[in-house]
Amino acid sequence: MSDKALVLLSGGQDSTTCLYWAIDRYGSDQVTALSFDYGQRHRIELECAEAIAAHTGIKHVQLPVDTFSALGGDALTDPDIEVAPQLDESADLPNTFVPGRNLIFITYAAAYAWQHGIAHLVTGVAQTDYSGYPDCREDTITALQQAIRLGMESDLNIHAPLMHLSKKETVELARDLGALPAMAMTHTCYNGTRPPCGECPACDLRARGFADAGIEDPLLTAQ
Ligand SMILES: [Zn+2]
Repeated sequence: MSDKALVLLSGGQDSTTCLYWAIDRYGSDQVTALSFDYGQRHRIELECAEAIAAHTGIKHVQLPVDTFSALGGDALTDPDIEVAPQLDESADLPNTFVPGRNLIFITYAAAYAWQHGIAHLVTGVAQTDYSGYPDCREDTITALQQAIRLGMESDLNIHAPLMHLSKKETVELARDLGALPAMAMTHTCYNGTRPPCGECPACDLRARGFADAGIEDPLLTAQ
C-alpha cells in the first residue's frame, strides 16, 4: 500500500485546508493536487488552485469535465442563473447545487489514483454548517468509497477531514496546520469577485467561521 495522496483542490478555503492536512500527514513529496475545469463560471477558482499548489510546491493536475454546463440548471455553471443571495432554509436545495458534481469528481479522482498507484484521496466535503449539499454527507462518501472499491478492485481510502468540523473548527485547523497565509490566495465567493462580495451564502459562511474562531481572514486583510 502506497502512502501517496491525492487532494481535490478547488482553490477554496476547505480544499486548501485539506491540502495542508495531507502534506502534514503524508509529506509534500507524496501529495498531488487535482482540480477540475468543469465550466465553472469563475475561472478564478482554477487560478487560485494553481497559485496555492505552487505556493506549497505540490504537483498540480487539472482535468477537464465539460458536461455540467451542457446539463444546465444550476447557478455555478449557467451564467444566465443568478446565485440566490441568501440561504433559504425552506428550500430543498440551493440553486448552486450541481447535481452529481462530487460523485463524478471523486470517481474521476479515484480513477486517477488507480492509474498512479495512489491509495489516499482527500476531499474537503463537510456535512456541518454548510449549504446542505447531499453529496457532501458522510453516508454519501462512505457509499461512494465502497462503490469505488468494488468497481475498481482497489483499496482506496477516501478521507474527509473536515466532515464533522464546524466552520469555526475548520478555520482553527487551518491555523494549526500553518495554512493561514495560503488562505489569502483562496477563493470562496459565489459571485467570483475579488475582493469577495461579502453577501453571498459562501462569503457569509466563510466570514462567520473566521469571526467565530476570532481570526482575521487573510483574504480580506490582503486586499
Ligand atoms: Zn460572495
